[in-house]
Amino acid sequence: AFDLLTVGGGPAGAAAAVYAARKGIRTGVAAERFGGQVLDTLGIENLISVPYTEGPKLAAALEEHVKQYDVDIMNLQRAVELVPASEPGGEHEVRFASGASLKSRTLVLATGARWREMNVPGEAEYRNKGVAYCPHCDGPLFKGKRVAVIGGGNSGVEAAIDLAGLVKEVVLIEFMDELRADEVLQNKLASLPNVEIIKGARTTQINGDGAKVSGLTYEERASGELRDIELEGVFVQIGLVPNTEWLRDSSIELSAHGEIITDERGMTSVPGIFAAGDVTTVPYKQIVISLGEGSRAALGAFDYLIRQ
Ligand code: FAD
Repeated sequence: AFDLLTVGGGPAGAAAAVYAARKGIRTGVAAERFGGQVLDTLGIENLISVPYTEGPKLAAALEEHVKQYDVDIMNLQRAVELVPASEPGGEHEVRFASGASLKSRTLVLATGARWREMNVPGEAEYRNKGVAYCPHCDGPLFKGKRVAVIGGGNSGVEAAIDLAGLVKEVVLIEFMDELRADEVLQNKLASLPNVEIIKGARTTQINGDGAKVSGLTYEERASGELRDIELEGVFVQIGLVPNTEWLRDSSIELSAHGEIITDERGMTSVPGIFAAGDVTTVPYKQIVISLGEGSRAALGAFDYLIRQ
């Protein structure tokens, strides 16, 4: 059995493993895909102290750092069930799709999240070639260009306001006939001169020249007519889904959005079980934040262990 097992091997899980191993406790990492979302990222320009890196390179660096220590890395393991300890200080069990099961005195749940996709033609093809999901990450790449933001909830409207300060023009496209964002955000958006809002519009296709995005097509839902707009970037902001489906039957407290709720040391509602990174309620899902959160959860878990 482990003293600390992280479930998930993205930035949060990797950071937790390094911090735990440096305390000399028995540490393991079980992940479906070591590296996490970082593997799907091209350029990364906001990992402070590293002006530029690329996703696969950063994922390899995370793994190399973890491997400096005596950590069991179990890749290609998808957790399907969590069985918390039956008494305080007992061992928690994680069951995997492979049939394997692991026990540990503390856990760091770091299974991350995934952006909800529109699932329209061109979206996958032009991912990282004009189709983007993170305005904090990719906004500056579109300086002086015309971009669309898909989604008129809080994240979509926040993204549109953010991008309006960076790019030439923003077109916000909302499926419903009204935006769903908070009124104060909507008012701010309406005050910006370089933002156009199109409501009641269903995006049907991302268009491109084979190498990069050149526009999109949407259906005006009232009339059923298709319209094309030309632009160079599309930010999809229709939701970020936490990977917590496997925790549904456990006693871990989740928010209304399915994110894991933690305290200031990263502990969940179950003593000895911690969580970190995009899978939690932490606002602003970023690599640098997940690294910090994973470190904090491991230190929290170590504190918990020495008190047992
Ligand atoms: P993740 O990276 O999501 O890692 C989750 C881990 O858990 C993975 O190992 C996964 O395989 C594993 N896992 C999931 N479910 C299970 C399960 N049931 N059982 C076992 N393992 C499981 N952030 C930036 O700071 N800068 C950027 O430039 C940037 N660009 C991005 C570009 C793209 C295209 C995307 C998708 C994200 C980008 N982000 C960027 C966001 C950043 O990647 C995330 O904030 C960060 O990776 C979150 O780290 P994490 O460890 O919490 O989760």
